[in-house]
Amino acid sequence: MPTRHKNLGAAQWMANGSAIEVVDLTLPENNVYAENVFGPAAQRARLPKGVYRKLQATIERGEELDPSIADAVASAMKDWALAKGATHYTHWFQPLTGSTAEKHDSFFGPTGDGMSIAEFSGKELIQAEPDASSFPTGGIRATFEARGYTAWDPTSPAFILENPNGATLCIPTAFMSWTGEALDNKIPLLRSMEALSTAALKALDLFGDHDAQRVFTTVGAEQEYFLIDEQYYYERPDLINTGRTLYGAKPPKGHELDDHYFGSIPERVLACMMEVERELARLGVPIKTRHNEVAPAQYEVAPIFEKSSVGADHQHLIMQTLQRVARNYGLVALLHEKPFAGVNGSGKHNNWSMSTETGHNLLDPGDTPYENLQFLFFAAAVIRAVDKHQGLLRATVANAGQDHRLGANEAPPAIISIYLGSEIERVFQAIAKGKVHKSTPKSFLGLGTPVLPHMPLHAGDRNRTSPFAFTGNKFEFRALGANQELGMPNTVLNTIVAESIDAMAGDLKKKLAKRGAKLETAVVDVVGDVYREHGRVVFDGDGYSEAWHEEAERRGLLNLRTTPDALPQFISPSTVQVFSKYKVLDKRELQARYDVYVEQYITKVNIEAETAANMGRTLIVPAALRQVTMCDEAGIDSLTDEVRGLTEELVSRLKVLEAANANHPHGTPIKHAQYMRDKVLPAMVSAREVADDLELIVADDLWPLPKYQEMLFVK
Ligand code: ADP
Ligand code: MG
Repeated sequence: MPTRHKNLGAAQWMANGSAIEVVDLTLPENNVYAENVFGPAAQRARLPKGVYRKLQATIERGEELDPSIADAVASAMKDWALAKGATHYTHWFQPLTGSTAEKHDSFFGPTGDGMSIAEFSGKELIQAEPDASSFPTGGIRATFEARGYTAWDPTSPAFILENPNGATLCIPTAFMSWTGEALDNKIPLLRSMEALSTAALKALDLFGDHDAQRVFTTVGAEQEYFLIDEQYYYERPDLINTGRTLYGAKPPKGHELDDHYFGSIPERVLACMMEVERELARLGVPIKTRHNEVAPAQYEVAPIFEKSSVGADHQHLIMQTLQRVARNYGLVALLHEKPFAGVNGSGKHNNWSMSTETGHNLLDPGDTPYENLQFLFFAAAVIRAVDKHQGLLRATVANAGQDHRLGANEAPPAIISIYLGSEIERVFQAIAKGKVHKSTPKSFLGLGTPVLPHMPLHAGDRNRTSPFAFTGNKFEFRALGANQELGMPNTVLNTIVAESIDAMAGDLKKKLAKRGAKLETAVVDVVGDVYREHGRVVFDGDGYSEAWHEEAERRGLLNLRTTPDALPQFISPSTVQVFSKYKVLDKRELQARYDVYVEQYITKVNIEAETAANMGRTLIVPAALRQVTMCDEAGIDSLTDEVRGLTEELVSRLKVLEAANANHPHGTPIKHAQYMRDKVLPAMVSAREVADDLELIVADDLWPLPKYQEMLFVK
């Protein structure tokens, strides 16, 4: 069938999604929000008062769970789930694969008389024992036992996962080895939230705030993704196997018109987005924003921020729901960081802040000098943390897909720096210099002390090139890849900021102990010290420019260009020190993660290389040979020579690729990863170059793969 006809098929769609119907959303009974979540409303309705209160104490204030309530919670949760049509339950967890895992068990057990009854005990709620040997453990399992167990995380509400043929109760859990090491991304995240809360409360105490009982870190992530027609997806082995196109000539230049960004959303895509949002609403995931992104066929979805642990769970649901619902519209959601070479990739912006249990955001500059002072302190702690642990932050966003994106003039550079906005930067500079400078903003008032600032309300400008930007009342870590889970990056942020707050609170306490000490002066002194030492990480210029690379080097900032360069930061002495001190991950648990990430890098590149070689040999070379025959038959030697030459070149480059990928070195895993980067990836690029040239001259009806312009522009 000629390609054009296929495109016509791809462009046609029917409103076959399950959400398309006219619903009067002003009626309360039509409000679907959180209807599939065993959250506070369902808990209050179904739990005995005392049990409900104890559960809330754990959820709201992080108090230790009283195990005696487990049976009551389990029973209420089961009845609620059965009423929703659930027949099975699962401990839903987050192994180091970067996605989620589930093993379903039926509620129903035989009673011996040919009948069955639904049972679910507190014990089954609290703990299960999946075999840990099938999940990456980075060696933890090998030396100990295969057994792992999952433990209920009561801070994240259980939810119902629906399928056309039934429903399953999903219980968010933590996953650990029998010997207690964290094998997942949830445990360290919870531990890091605890560490940050302790440190921040200590600081707030010095500020005279004795009311706060808990400080939560918050996260809201903007998710970029592509939607393409599923017909093209299933015609491309590279998309199926690796999530990205390993071949493909760029579409005609100028085709990537600027009007796509924030442009009107194609009808099929909008219908899909609406169903995604409705499904997420039912799961209690508060989606707020949707729009077109910069690249053709690229979009974004963003939720309202939540506590980090819940936000991280919800991020998984967002990614999974996008992929699941897209299929109802004949679409496939691509979450790869760089599905199309030469076209903008997809990232994820991790908006991060800290707030007390009553909702006081510690990174809100506020209107009063007192609030300003607190803001300066906590913002300085972030600056200190990001500077001290810049390598680790870079490592948490490192993976094979990211290497095609970071630093490629479309995404933040591999150098970690902070953008504060010029007003706030000048305030910090003035404090560091110990005086109000002529150039400090007008709003910079003294009150009681000449250096006490009145902060501007807005951070001022934006800087799209910065990997870590202050955006008014939160920091935005903009270097995450679209496919990433939020657990690890936020664990890192929480832990390193906890350390900084703790250290700065120690300094502040000493200064306050001096006779006649004033809070204002002491805070300004501490902040000044921090900024003098760590202000080098603050940069408000163009992060894409060559000049910044040189400047960053002069400042002594790290520039870890690729994943193999960055990953060793997970086991650097400064990482081990801070993670052990705050009991987030011990040396062994860090080493395990490092091993797993290095292994994942090698595996990914290997799969890409095998897929590229195979597609070259079995799809592209045969198409080129047909073209040679056709030119030959036509008797036009110049054409025959051209195609023949390119075909021979492609075959020889494919052989180089096959050889490179057949002979992996023995040695340490990191050496192996470097080999994949230095020998295998370049061989893939080199084969692709010739294949893409062939794509431009081989007859359209002979070319075996959907082209960029079809995938990106047929909607
Ligand atoms: P911007 O356009 O500046 O990025 P938005 O208000 O659109 O800001 O927010 C973008 C994302 O930041 C949203 O997902 C939002 O929930 C999140 N966000 C806002 N405030 C906070 C906060 N205090 N902590 C964490 N995330 C936040
Ligand atoms: Mg943003």
